[in-house]
Amino acid sequence: MCEGMERMDLKTLTTEQLAANLRELQRHLPEERAAELNQFQEAVQELQVHRVELEMQNRALRETQQELEHSVRRYSDLFDHLPTGYLTVSLQGQIIGANPAALELVGHSLHEVIGKFFRRYVDAYDAGRFVAHLEACLQTGRQLTLEIKLRGNRSDPIDVQLSSRLAPATPGDGQHIHIAVTDISELKRTQHTLEEINGEQEAFNYSISHDLRAPLVTISNYARIVLSEHGEALDDEGRGMLQRVENAAIRMEETLKHLLEYSTLAREEVVLQTLNLNEVMRELVIEYRGIIQQRNADVSVAQDLPPVRGSRTILTQVLANLLTNALKYTKHGVSPTVEIGAGVADGHVIIYVRDHGIGIEAKYHERVFQIFERLHGYSRYPGSGVGLAIARRAVERMNGRIWVDSVPGEGSCFHVELACG
Ligand code: ADP
Repeated sequence: MCEGMERMDLKTLTTEQLAANLRELQRHLPEERAAELNQFQEAVQELQVHRVELEMQNRALRETQQELEHSVRRYSDLFDHLPTGYLTVSLQGQIIGANPAALELVGHSLHEVIGKFFRRYVDAYDAGRFVAHLEACLQTGRQLTLEIKLRGNRSDPIDVQLSSRLAPATPGDGQHIHIAVTDISELKRTQHTLEEINGEQEAFNYSISHDLRAPLVTISNYARIVLSEHGEALDDEGRGMLQRVENAAIRMEETLKHLLEYSTLAREEVVLQTLNLNEVMRELVIEYRGIIQQRNADVSVAQDLPPVRGSRTILTQVLANLLTNALKYTKHGVSPTVEIGAGVADGHVIIYVRDHGIGIEAKYHERVFQIFERLHGYSRYPGSGVGLAIARRAVERMNGRIWVDSVPGEGSCFHVELACG
């Protein structure tokens, strides 16, 4: 022990104290021992640096842990207070976790539902569809939705929408499925009421357009008979008036006929099948040969058209409306030129009917499909304003879409998109 140094417990010293003591010790040692001590001192300094680094790492780790705890708290708070129900189920459908909104919908507490199969809370009628839905989620790996009735502990089930997806596998935890459950009972009630109102409206339209046609036919027939058999007994003014009565009755009868077609489309059952578009087009051109010749029109139909999924009578009706419009809305004194064809894009067939007529301004591209929406006077372009509304309803009944591209003064191209046949 060196003079002036007290005996001390090395274990209780800090690295700084140890270094100071070593420096003191070095002063009292022979040269070669002092060199050894020097090395030892360097090692102590290195240790000191490591300790500081370790302390910094430790602090950073503590901060990360705190941040993690905060975000876990934030997310679990969000999860607990979400208005949508969230469930985690095993691949077989057993409940692993549920938030309070999901428990509220199921009508049971967390400990009651954990480990139970979710399908036991689904209305018996929908249980099979739910199992198939889980299997589809598993097989496709995609987020899928399903509307079912959830019974839980209620006597009357409620309508819910499930949105389920396979959760990414985490280490140490098997794969499972996340299900978001949204209460759509209010939406369903409104939808049901709307359907009822629509149904009543359609029935009303149908009977009005059906029942009013007969008296109108009588009016136009009698006006014609009076004109041809008793016309001489009237002066020019009288004959003119009677002629206008006949014209108005014919026009109204035409409108009612279209309205009836429009209503019938909403009511009738639509059966979709694979259609040979080449045949449909051939028959269409034959049926409208008279008006095509009368208008001195050039109508060309593309060859080798793809098969399409639709109803033959309904598709013919749509194409007839588009063709007759293309023949009608022409520039003054110009013979119509119409091109009809179809192509396949993104798994759908897109049929087009293109004319080089008067065209439609962009702001009316949607409006022309609304019922009774007409852009022109009856005297220049006669019509009822129902043809395109019929076309849209008809295409929608075949699960398709219809739209128009058009430039005023250059022409219009109507597109009908349907599934491939
Ligand atoms: P309408 O019996 O009046 O022809 P539609 O419902 O078939 O009724 O068409 C609605 C309106 O859209 C027409 O009045 C016309 O103004 C416009 N329209 C329809 N097709 C064409 C077309 N090919 N070119 C220009 N305008 C068109």
